[in-house]
Amino acid sequence: MENQGHYSFFQGVERNFDKAAKYTRFEAGILEQIKACNSVYRMKFPVRIGDNIEVIEAYRVQHSHHKLPCKGGIRYSMDVNQDEVMALAALMTYKCAIVNVPFGGGKGGIKIDPKKYTTFELEKITRRYASELVKKNFIGPGIDVPAPDYGTGGREMSWIVDTYASLKPGEVDALACITGKPVTQGGVRGRTEATGLGIYYGIREVVSIKEDMDKLGLTTGIAGKKVIVQGLGNVGYHAAKFFYDNGAIIVGLAEYEGGIYNADGLDLYKVVEHRKSTGSILNFAGATNMTNSYATMEQPCDILIPAALENVINEGNADRIQAKIIGEGANGPLTPEADEILGKKGVMIIPDMYLNAGGVTVSYFEWLKNLSHVRFGRMDKRFSENQNTSILNAVENLTGKKASDTERKQIQHGPEEADLVYSGLEDTMIGSYHEIRDEWVKLDRKVDMRTAAFVVAINKVGVSYEELGIFP
Ligand code: NAD
Repeated sequence: MENQGHYSFFQGVERNFDKAAKYTRFEAGILEQIKACNSVYRMKFPVRIGDNIEVIEAYRVQHSHHKLPCKGGIRYSMDVNQDEVMALAALMTYKCAIVNVPFGGGKGGIKIDPKKYTTFELEKITRRYASELVKKNFIGPGIDVPAPDYGTGGREMSWIVDTYASLKPGEVDALACITGKPVTQGGVRGRTEATGLGIYYGIREVVSIKEDMDKLGLTTGIAGKKVIVQGLGNVGYHAAKFFYDNGAIIVGLAEYEGGIYNADGLDLYKVVEHRKSTGSILNFAGATNMTNSYATMEQPCDILIPAALENVINEGNADRIQAKIIGEGANGPLTPEADEILGKKGVMIIPDMYLNAGGVTVSYFEWLKNLSHVRFGRMDKRFSENQNTSILNAVENLTGKKASDTERKQIQHGPEEADLVYSGLEDTMIGSYHEIRDEWVKLDRKVDMRTAAFVVAINKVGVSYEELGIFP
């Protein structure tokens, strides 16, 4: 997407960094190193598409090596360019630090419109990209571990891991070279919905704090909150689903073909069915069509979740946004100018590098699973169930009371992989929000949440660089 502001996307990230850096104690050199993109690999490679040879442009950026491997998604979009990949890689560094995932930031992209290719052609392009990464040592369980992003998913991750494994025969940890794989290919349960679920857990925590909600004129709790979501892809759909399932009212949904709005609420599942059968979210019974996805975001709501692309809220439309809370599902959906305009209006902006970190958090769990070669819960599920049964029996004997069948099932249940992943994610999103909010309160709420989040991230990465002892 075209940058609408005065800054490139990467410069925008740098600007936000600088705003926060003055609240940290690090000397200029360390700050400069944290900010810099360590390695930028731009590649061009030929792929035969039909009767022609197409020269494909692609990137992989490793923003920071203070922890290894580097981590970050791969996106397929015609908007991919070096500046964008650098900005997204930088955000990954700060994101990992915020949620205590021990990785440096990375990001990749192929400048293609995936809709224009057949599955076979996409596989060829993806495998070629993967082999270029192997050739230059830009992928590997301890080097750089990509994941899905805009325009990619489990299918692309499977092609990449397969290419990697065939070029590195016998590498026992090969599965850990990429995350976001389907469960049958070494993925972890809960990864697909992780980013959307993390957004839900994060916002649920935000709206649970009465003091902050009073200031916004909102009640606490998710139930009854009016929500608009832009983008019904992996992130947007799952975020909308968890809000909807937990009692929020989805009043607006926006996709690239336009948007729909109904102040009384939309049935999310019916909208998805409608889109499947008609190819569009438009003309959904009972809803008003919006001319485009921007107009949808400007409708009244409590919480707006932009979950499509960057720079969608900018100086051109920020003052028309009516939401009281903006939860950044996408990476960089607000330009620095929009940040300022909305900040002045008193809108609470929950920054991307915290809020959409659920994906990388669960990717970290997937990487751990791949390296340990065992499914989470396999060793302890049955043991916990036996223990729980013994405790329950003892309590029943002591009290003379019997648990109901439902209670018995709940108490006995030992942790399965999905339970552990969900609870690890929930704990991360809650804990990290409080780290950011504590910093925000410490700074007398004079800065926005994004700046507070940057301060938290810079402090962690800065200490890492200091401890690496690379500044003799
Ligand atoms: P996706 O490709 O699954 O979905 C993106 C959706 O946005 C698509 O449905 C697309 O049609 C829609 N879209 C495109 N242009 C639009 C427009 N102008 N208006 C409304 N909708 C539009 O991608 P995704 O994985 O959901 O990623 C979305 C954003 O979230 C990106 O910024 C990505 O970097 C970020 N993100 C993704 C993950 C992840 O785990 N997938 C993690 C963190 C952040």
